[in-house]
Amino acid sequence: MPLAASVLIDGPSELVFDYAIPDHLNVLAGCRVRIPLRNRPATGTVLRIGEAPQTDFDLRYLTDLVDPEPLITPPLLKLAEWITSYYGTPLEQVIRSIIPSSIRGEKTSAKTRRAAVLVNPPSEEELATLAKRAKRQHQIITLLSVSDKPIPITDLGGPSASASLKTLSEKGWIKLIDLEVRRDPDANETFVPTDPLTLNAEQAEIHQTVVKSLNSDKPTPILLHGITGSGKTEVYLQATRAALDLGKNVIVLVPEIALAPQTVQRFKARFHDLVDQTAVLHSNLSQGERFDEWHRIRAGKARIVIGARSAIFAPIKDPGLIIVDEEHEPAYKQENPPKYHARDLAVVRCHLEKCTVLLGTATPSLETFQNTQLGKYQLAKLTERADGASLPLTRVVDMRIESKKHKGRDAIISDILRTSIDKRLEDGEQVIVFLNRRGFARSLQCPPCGHVIECNHCAIPLTYHRADERLVCHICGHQAIVPRLCPNCQDPAIRFQGYGTEKAETILRKVFPTAKIARLDTDTTRRKNTLRDTLRDFRAKKIHILLGTQMIAKGLDFPNVTLVGVLNADLSLYAPDFRAGERTFQLLTQVAGRAGRGALAGEVIIQTSTPHSPSIQFARHHDFNGFAAQELDVRQQFSYPPFTHLALLLARSSHERRAEFTLQTLHRKIAENLPDEIILGDPIPSPLTKSHSQFRFQLLMRGPNARVLSHHLNKVLRTTPTPEDVIVTADLDAYDLG
Ligand code: ADP
Ligand code: ZN
Repeated sequence: MPLAASVLIDGPSELVFDYAIPDHLNVLAGCRVRIPLRNRPATGTVLRIGEAPQTDFDLRYLTDLVDPEPLITPPLLKLAEWITSYYGTPLEQVIRSIIPSSIRGEKTSAKTRRAAVLVNPPSEEELATLAKRAKRQHQIITLLSVSDKPIPITDLGGPSASASLKTLSEKGWIKLIDLEVRRDPDANETFVPTDPLTLNAEQAEIHQTVVKSLNSDKPTPILLHGITGSGKTEVYLQATRAALDLGKNVIVLVPEIALAPQTVQRFKARFHDLVDQTAVLHSNLSQGERFDEWHRIRAGKARIVIGARSAIFAPIKDPGLIIVDEEHEPAYKQENPPKYHARDLAVVRCHLEKCTVLLGTATPSLETFQNTQLGKYQLAKLTERADGASLPLTRVVDMRIESKKHKGRDAIISDILRTSIDKRLEDGEQVIVFLNRRGFARSLQCPPCGHVIECNHCAIPLTYHRADERLVCHICGHQAIVPRLCPNCQDPAIRFQGYGTEKAETILRKVFPTAKIARLDTDTTRRKNTLRDTLRDFRAKKIHILLGTQMIAKGLDFPNVTLVGVLNADLSLYAPDFRAGERTFQLLTQVAGRAGRGALAGEVIIQTSTPHSPSIQFARHHDFNGFAAQELDVRQQFSYPPFTHLALLLARSSHERRAEFTLQTLHRKIAENLPDEIILGDPIPSPLTKSHSQFRFQLLMRGPNARVLSHHLNKVLRTTPTPEDVIVTADLDAYDLG
């Protein structure tokens, strides 16, 4: 029986077929191959190799290898298999995530330009003749003979030199070649080299822990819990140097694209000697840039990879250190299948490749914190700000009182915040204003009848965006014209409720007419580089007030920012999610951490209608341990993570009844032979009852063991047929609870 390869065929339908492997080819999992497909030649990626399956027809042979080197390293293949068994996602889907389509397909390729190189220099005599008879040819030869690299023909006179180049190459003196040019995402950036700082005592101790781990063959993950401004980045940088010195390579994950430019800047400045060996991978790259960066990594030309979530799959060989910055960030969880968590994969990959994982944050996720309590991870702490600064003083403003003062009008900026901003601006300092909602008004409501304008496809109100004079759905993007009369009762009294960043910007401009104000949210950063440029201008003090959503909440380091205002701290607190309190605590602590990072003392003003909620009070006192103790207590009582793993099962369909019925059927099947340890919740409508024109129903399962949970659930999903028009998805260790 010959061996067979399962091949994921390139192309939009992403089919998987088996092919027999000819004896003379050394085909490995992860290799690119040529195959016949309905009598046409096609290409694909080998998913796995095994005994040829029993079929009643002969398997066709694959034709050839596109490239003998597999696209995926053996440890990454193991990681893929781990994901398949843990999350229950089919291997082909996992491989699709690991190898970007721009790499698998053949649409994108290396960029080349014609260049000339000297191969066989002419003799002195011949050169002298050239100097007399053919000036141009002589010039070209002289230039090439002093260059140790090929020279692009555009630099040798371009089209006007083509005749001379042709003659020279016919004489065998030079050769014309296709030179690969790198599409460098940071081609227009400059990086001023920086020297390592002298570590303070706490940093030095952590550095020692990391170095010890780098030299160990059974490293334990390390949680670096350092308050905001405690100098975690310096620890990352020196740990990276230590790993490089051992001949190992490094991956640095950042949760959000907003943080990528600053991290890239800091790493490329510090590792200036290796600037050409640093690669970046994130969603803001063009296909060509991604192609080049990815191939540089696979070819071993990059030793440091900085990227967002999916960079955990960077095909780097021999990683010694994986850094996960802001490990608590939900952005590490992928919301499409495979619904992996990049931080958790970092831990798994480190286990597979025996490398060190360093999880850094000022507000550890309770999952990670609990792992340190159980001794699974080491805990390292930075308890003071690195440059001697102290944590900002935080004031909480009760907006219920404020809105009474303003006779019920939407109070957006309290008197206290206004006075403080005024004072900071006068002193030449900078201000960050945080509001976690974009758009102008939250919703459009008719006071007489109470009708709220909702999206036709989703069960949420449409948000008013004044810049393009439209109502927009923040779930599906549906747009609508702003009605003049209430569509329900025809009353013209219909008006906007609540506010988002766009309105806050208008108000700020009115209140502070001479200040330079910039806004950063998903609406303003659609254009490539807006984010990077705005942050750069803010750093250069060309902007006085930076207003933004959670995009600006964390990680950014601007020493001249002395005041952070939080316009509405309650936005994340009342989400129907057991993590709402944790999210709010994290967000407030992080955003507060942007203030007073330099020599100047910082101040934070939090506006809220629930000033006594524990998340706000613990954040105000920078008290992570207090928060964790009380929150863990609640989680334990109700068997929520980190004391259990959680799986969310969602059924959605445009037919409400069918979605509901399908979920009820699955619920019944799950209840049969349910392992004792699993708590099975009832099927209920999701908190977001409708989205993208589909009705949504869900149930939660919890259990102490993720695999038991996942295996039981996936077995039911595999064996229970569901109607074609109902989409069923499972999410293990879910963050988004519908
Ligand atoms: P974090 O990431 O923990 O919030 P950063 O790494 O941004 O903090 O560091 C905050 C500031 O402290 C930066 O301006 C950094 O240059 C400075 N810093 C870090 N380590 C030291 C040190 N050992 N000595 C002096 N300054 C330091
Ligand atoms: Zn919608």
